[in-house]
Amino acid sequence: METIGHFIDGRRVPGQSGRRAEVFNPATGEAQAEVALASAAEVAAAVERAKAAQPAWAATNPQRRARVLMKFVELLNRDMDRLAEAISREHGKTLPDARGDVQRGLEVAEFCIGAPHLLKGEFTDGAGRGIDMYSMRQPLGVVAGITPFNFPAMIPMWKFCPAIACGNAFILKPSERDPSCPMLLAELMIEAGLPEGILQVVNGDREAVEAILDHPDIAAIGFVGSTPVAQHIYGRAAATGKRVQCFGGAKNHMIVMPDADLDQAVDALVGAGYGAAGERCMAVSVAVPVGEATADALIRKLVPRVESLKIGPYTAGEDVDFGPVISREAKSRILGLIDSGVEAGADLVVDGRGFTMQGYESGFFVGACLFDRVTPEMEIYRQEIFGPVLSTVRAASYEDALELTMRNEFGNGTAIFTRDGATARDFTSRINVGMVGVNVPIPVPLAYHGFGGWKKSGFGDLNQHGPDAFRFYTRTKTVTSRWPSGITEGAAFSIPTME
Ligand code: NAD
Repeated sequence: METIGHFIDGRRVPGQSGRRAEVFNPATGEAQAEVALASAAEVAAAVERAKAAQPAWAATNPQRRARVLMKFVELLNRDMDRLAEAISREHGKTLPDARGDVQRGLEVAEFCIGAPHLLKGEFTDGAGRGIDMYSMRQPLGVVAGITPFNFPAMIPMWKFCPAIACGNAFILKPSERDPSCPMLLAELMIEAGLPEGILQVVNGDREAVEAILDHPDIAAIGFVGSTPVAQHIYGRAAATGKRVQCFGGAKNHMIVMPDADLDQAVDALVGAGYGAAGERCMAVSVAVPVGEATADALIRKLVPRVESLKIGPYTAGEDVDFGPVISREAKSRILGLIDSGVEAGADLVVDGRGFTMQGYESGFFVGACLFDRVTPEMEIYRQEIFGPVLSTVRAASYEDALELTMRNEFGNGTAIFTRDGATARDFTSRINVGMVGVNVPIPVPLAYHGFGGWKKSGFGDLNQHGPDAFRFYTRTKTVTSRWPSGITEGAAFSIPTME
């Protein structure tokens, strides 16, 4: 069986800790590889090599750094199918969805080609007599990213592309569940011309993460994953003075107003609720129809659509709607939550619990489930299910729907479907959620805007990609310079005011 090690100094190296985890094919339920789990000493060695390589990379002018990313984009396009296959084999998502995973990362690499422009500082000519003032953006040094299983291409690229474009060295700790694609990405960066040591991939679990958190030479950490881990890492890393941004879980509500085009709303709910088996932080997991008539009509239209969703392994062809979930544990957790919803009195109008895939009986498949009459106290509403389960919470009015979404502890994404501009405008202005869609169910901002949730979906003040990424991965230095013509004689004891 293949053992996936780490990627250090431009090449694959075996793990040395003796600890390993199995990597499954979720469609068959079989272990297909093992991944090495790094020890603290292996993390420290990766950091040391990165630290040695970083100053020369920071001194490479930003245009040349950007050219590495330009080449990287070309290589991503060349290898798109190979990368997508590596993702689908370990994650279980369909091939078109896996290509989308690569594409949304590639677009951030494209954005980062603009690094020379994005890194330009500010300059004030004549801030005082003979005085100029300017600011520059400088890299932080060695920075790290800890990423989740659900986007093994996109999220690592969201992290390492801007960090590296800014002149940092990057330690990537990807999810141990689907480590192959991040290793391929690192190889492509080397092929694109990145010097050795600037992108190190350290595979591992909690032990490697703790080592990253404790390492004094890691200046910043970007994390994406579940909320409890995000909150833990945010607190721990911030306490040691590291710069840190952590993005967590979600419970995304989609409000359907009585005036919405219901067919469009149904299309949106089916795609955004069940795509990638619901394993997206921007999946719609709660439908909120406003008014009983809207709710009845919506459920009537949703049921046959959900019942006819095509589930299968990624090898079954491009018309499969979604594949298995990531692991046996995830499957039993999801099934347990569905049972809890039934016990709590919610109406399971489409029951996918008994689903099995012929020929793939040991695969981690969960059939699509649709709940009606879910209430906010139920576990299925309170927890992020991260599976192919859509809950419907009926709201009596627009204000009730707004209030429900505002009260939810998560604030990643939300959407409203309506034909009324004033309602949509009121919603976008008042809602306490980071990413909002108007007749758009998965409002994932493009590479040149920022991605980030509010409340328990995001800890820290800067977003991922967009101009914020260049702020996160650099620190500003402001220089005030005066040349002799502006210098007056004598010591000044009061605070300078540039008078
Ligand atoms: P996870 O929290 O289990 O793991 C994320 C990373 O943290 C992995 O690299 C993992 O090895 C590490 N990790 C896990 N447990 C840890 C612990 N106790 N201490 C230290 N490190 C630990 O998340 P996941 O299951 O891989 O991903 C799914 C979650 O990620 C969902 O909650 C989803 O909503 C969230 N997510 C959020 C965003 C966003 O931008 N907000 C994007 C994608 C996914």
